[in-house]
Amino acid sequence: MEEVKELQNGKLIRVGAICNFCKTRLSASSNGGTGHLRRHILSCKKKDNVGSSFSQSHLHFDSASNVQRFVYKPMVARTELVRLIARLDLPLNIGEQPAWGDYIRAAFYPDYTHVSRQTTTRDVDTYFDAKQSVVKKMFE
Ligand SMILES: [Zn+2]
Repeated sequence: MEEVKELQNGKLIRVGAICNFCKTRLSASSNGGTGHLRRHILSCKKKDNVGSSFSQSHLHFDSASNVQRFVYKPMVARTELVRLIARLDLPLNIGEQPAWGDYIRAAFYPDYTHVSRQTTTRDVDTYFDAKQSVVKKMFE
């Protein structure tokens, strides 16, 4: 859904949404619910013509109840991999294992590319330094 906003009393307010598939405009006032938008997306007749792009989209709501599309962020993925390795005591080279790549591509992100052990090692150092400085600031 694409948001439609209008200037009302000097403030930009969401008044509607346009379906990305069939271009139908739906009401979506900023103080109203968004359940009908979700139902429209699920039932939209045109979405099937778009092919695989719909099935690979992940929709979620941001803090202002706007429908947002999932965007893969490689740096977030790498940081979360560091956290997962630490929590589960996994090997630093798990990001370059073919089985790991197969799992991530099949379940979450078809365009995933592996992360080398060297990159993960650097990411661990970066994450450690960032968290260590937070702890140091707490004790100042
Ligand atoms: Zn539609």
